[in-house]
Amino acid sequence: MRKSRESWPASENKMRAKKIVIIGLVQGVGFRPFLDRLARRLGLRGYVRNVGGSEVEVWVEGGEEILEEFVKRLVSEKPPPAFIEEIRVEEVEPQGYREFIIKESGRDFKARSNIPPDIAMCHDCLLEILNPEDRRYRYPFNSCAWCGPRFSMISNIPYDRVNTSMRKYPLCSECLREYKDPENLRRYHAQGISCKVDGPRLALLDPGGMLVDDKNPIETAAKLIEEGSIIAVKGLGGFHLAALATSDDVVARLRARKKRPRKPFAVMGIDSIVLRRLVYMDEGDEEVLNSPQAPILLLPKREDTPVSKLVSPGLSHEGVFVAYTPLHYLLLKETRDKFLVMTSGNLTGEPMCRDEDCAFRELKNVADYFLVHDREIVHRVDDSVIRKTGGRYVLLRRSRGYAPLWIRIPGKLPRDVVAFGSDLNNTVAIGFEDKIVVSPYIGDLDEAKSVSELEGYLRFLVSSYHLNEDNLIVVSDKHPGYVSKRLAVEYAEKRGARLVEVQHHLAHILSVVGEKWLEGRILGVALDGLGWGDDNTIWGGEVILVDTEEASYKRVASLSPLPLTSDMDTVKPLRILVGLLAEKGFSLEETVSMLKRIGVGEDEIHEMLLVHRLVNRGLFKPASSTGRLIDVASAILGVGRERSYDGEPAIRLEAVAFNGGLIDPPDIRTYGENGVLRLNAWRYIEWVLENLGAPTPHIARTFLKSLGEGYGRLIAESARGLRVEPEIVVSGGAGVNEFIVRGLEKALEREGFKVVLPSRIPLNDEGISFGQVYYCLLACGST
Ligand SMILES: [Zn+2]
Ligand SMILES: [Zn+2]
Repeated sequence: MRKSRESWPASENKMRAKKIVIIGLVQGVGFRPFLDRLARRLGLRGYVRNVGGSEVEVWVEGGEEILEEFVKRLVSEKPPPAFIEEIRVEEVEPQGYREFIIKESGRDFKARSNIPPDIAMCHDCLLEILNPEDRRYRYPFNSCAWCGPRFSMISNIPYDRVNTSMRKYPLCSECLREYKDPENLRRYHAQGISCKVDGPRLALLDPGGMLVDDKNPIETAAKLIEEGSIIAVKGLGGFHLAALATSDDVVARLRARKKRPRKPFAVMGIDSIVLRRLVYMDEGDEEVLNSPQAPILLLPKREDTPVSKLVSPGLSHEGVFVAYTPLHYLLLKETRDKFLVMTSGNLTGEPMCRDEDCAFRELKNVADYFLVHDREIVHRVDDSVIRKTGGRYVLLRRSRGYAPLWIRIPGKLPRDVVAFGSDLNNTVAIGFEDKIVVSPYIGDLDEAKSVSELEGYLRFLVSSYHLNEDNLIVVSDKHPGYVSKRLAVEYAEKRGARLVEVQHHLAHILSVVGEKWLEGRILGVALDGLGWGDDNTIWGGEVILVDTEEASYKRVASLSPLPLTSDMDTVKPLRILVGLLAEKGFSLEETVSMLKRIGVGEDEIHEMLLVHRLVNRGLFKPASSTGRLIDVASAILGVGRERSYDGEPAIRLEAVAFNGGLIDPPDIRTYGENGVLRLNAWRYIEWVLENLGAPTPHIARTFLKSLGEGYGRLIAESARGLRVEPEIVVSGGAGVNEFIVRGLEKALEREGFKVVLPSRIPLNDEGISFGQVYYCLLACGST
C-alpha cells in the first residue's frame, strides 16, 4: 500500500497522450473553442481540429488523471446544442507539444457532414439582448456558436458564412475581432453572428408593402397586436401569424380569415414560467420546452387558463412553446400578456410562406401588418410538435431543431437510397452508408406547392450528400394513386434507377425497428388511417411480423374491414356507420331511425342513405382502418361529426375521454379469416350504440382503452408459436392515443411483452420515408 502511494508522483509526472475523435453534431456549435478552453484550464497541450464532415479530433498530452478528467468534462460540459454520438479514445505516443492550439482544418469538401439544424436562442444571447450595457442590447438577430439559424439559411454545405444567407452582411470590425478570437467561447468561428451595425434589418409594413415603421418596428407591432391586429411575422424558418390569444374576437377573426374553423393554433410564451399559467407541466416538460429544439409541446390546459377557448376548441391540451429567437422574445416582451397565438402563416393546406412575395400574396387578407426582415430564408422550417403518450414523449412533427440531422442505423446500406414517403404528411428521405436523413415536414402532396417543396428538399439533400445518382435505389409507397409514387417512378426512370415499392404499414413498423435498432423476429402493429395493402384492399389496423435476418414480413392479423364508399367517408364518418349498418343487415328504415336517435338532421340522413344502397350493391372498398373506426365512434357520440383537419374526430374523442371513467367494456372478439386473425370492429360500434345512455366521456374512454386491449389481445394471440422478440412495436397516427396505448400495455405486459413507441421518428405518415429507406438495409441486397 505504502509503496504504491510513494510511486504516485512518479506516475503523475509521466506524460501520456490521447487522441480523441468525437462524432456527432460537433461542428458549427462552438466545439473547438470549448475544447481549447477546457484543455488550457487543465494545463494540457496538443491541438483540436475539425475532420471529415462531422468529427472533431483532439490530441491532448498531460498526466493520466488530468487526461481522464478532460474526457469526462468534454462530455458533461459540452456546448448546449452539441450532441455526441460516439467518442473514440486512443492511447498514443506523446509528441511533446508545447501548448494547446486550434488547428485550421483543410476543408474536405467531399466529406459528408451532418447539416446542423436551427437552434433556439441560448441563455447567454438572451442576457446580452436584455443588458443595456451590451452592444447587442435589444438586437433581434443576436446569435452565437451555440444558437441561431442554421439549416433554414444554408444554401450549400459546408456550413460556412459564404454558404448561408448571412453572406450579404460582412462582419463589422467588432464582430470580426470576436470571430477571430479563440478565447471567445461563443463567437470564435461562429458563422452566423452579426450585430446592430452589420446585421439584418427589421421593418413593419402594411398589406400594400408600404413602410409603417423602421425605427421601432417591434414596439409598434406589439402595440398594434394589443389593439387587436393580426401581424404576419417573418421569423426563423418562415412566417407566423401573431395575435392576442386572450381575445375571442381576435381569434375568431383569425379563424375566419384563415378559413380554419377548428384546427388548433399554437401559443408562444416569452418563457416557460409564463406558460405555467396556461398549462400543467412537470420538470421534464419544462426541460423539453427550454431545450435547444424548443418544440411546440401539447400540455393539459389549466381550468383557469386565460387563453381563449377558440384557440383549440374542444381539446384538452394546448400546444405551447417558448420564444426561440430574440425577435420573438422582444416582441412578446412588449405585450401585456407575454404570450400570443403564433400560428404558421399559410392558407389552409398550403406550405408556410418563407418570403415576402408569398406573404403579401397569400396573407394580404389575413394579416393587418407585416413585420419583416431582409435575411433570406433558404429552407422553410416548420415548428416541431411533441406530445406525451403513456408517459413518453413522441414526435408529431419533426422539423425545426431536429431535421435534417441524420439518424444512424445499425448497418451499411447496399447503395444510396432516395425515398418518397407518403402522400399525406409527406417527408422525403435519403440514405447512404449507415445514415438516414429525413427532410423536414413538407405537407400533403395534393398541392402543387408541396410537390415543388418536395423536389427542392430532395435536390438539396442529394447534392449536399453527394449521392451517386447513377446507382440509386428509389423507394415509393405501393398506393397506385399516390402522387409520391408517380414522382418516384419518374425520378427512377430519369436516372435508370431501381424502383422498390414498400407496403405502407410495413414502412411504419420498420421506422420503429430502424430507430430502435431492433433485430430478430419482431411483431409490430400499425394503428393507421388508410394505406394501400398487399391484397389491394385498404389497410390501417395491421399486425405485421418482420424478420430482420430473413428480410421477410407477413401480415398476421388485422382489424376487420369497414366498408368505404368514397373519400367523403373520411370527412363525414357517419357515412361509414350507415355502410356498417347496411352490411349487418339493418334495413333502410332501421338505419334511418338509428340516425334519428343519435340526433342527425333529416337533410343529412337523406344524403347518407345513398351509402346504404351502395353497400347493399357491393359498391364499396373494404378498409381495416383504425382511424376510421375511431372516427365512427366519435361521430356517433356527437363529438366529431365532421372532420376539418387531419385526425380531428379522433383527437376530440381522446380529449373527451380524459374526463371520463371506465364502464363495462365490450367483449373482445377475434376470429380467423384466410390465415389472418381479425379483431371484430363491428362489436365496438355495436357496444357504443348499446351504451348511448351512459355519459359520453365514459363511453369515449372505455371505447379507446378496450380498443387498445383488443389490439393487445390480437397481438398476443398472433404471437403464439411464432417465437418473437419481447418488444412489440407500435406505429401509425392512432398509436399516439393515450388510452389505446394504455390498453395495449395492459393487455401485452401481462403476457410478458413490452410496448415500444418511436421517440425520434414521428408515428404518423411523416415517418414513412425513414421506414422506406430502412427497408433497403434489410431487403435491397447488393444487387
Ligand atoms: Zn447564443
Ligand atoms: Zn458586427
